[in-house]
Amino acid sequence: MAGVDQLNQVFFDGVAEGQLRIQQCGDCGAYQFYPRVVCKLCGSEHVHWKVASGRGQVASFSVVRRGVSADFAAPYIVALIELEEGVTMMSHVVDVDPNQVISGMAVTLTFRTVGGADIRPVFIPASKS
Ligand SMILES: [Zn+2]
Repeated sequence: MAGVDQLNQVFFDGVAEGQLRIQQCGDCGAYQFYPRVVCKLCGSEHVHWKVASGRGQVASFSVVRRGVSADFAAPYIVALIELEEGVTMMSHVVDVDPNQVISGMAVTLTFRTVGGADIRPVFIPASKS
């Protein structure tokens, strides 16, 4: 059975290749994110990796108006994104006026360096993609 560090490695290898990788259970079909060694729904060990479509919507969000460092220039948007596969992930919404963001807004995956750090999966308004 793969360890959690190995699971994270698969995820970050995907990011490096411009893919958002999530897991799907081979037994019950459920998707899950973050990566786990077993299916969170049925406990099956037959989880495998899929490349997410990159389409989703803003489930909820918070506008951070005070930056913590020069690399995190405020305002920026921290959001819970619900992917069309049904999983949610914490991310950022970029290339949008914070006043234009609403819950339920359609977003599309892209990749950016966040906070001067590594490339991360983030989201832009679907209308811009
Ligand atoms: Zn399952």
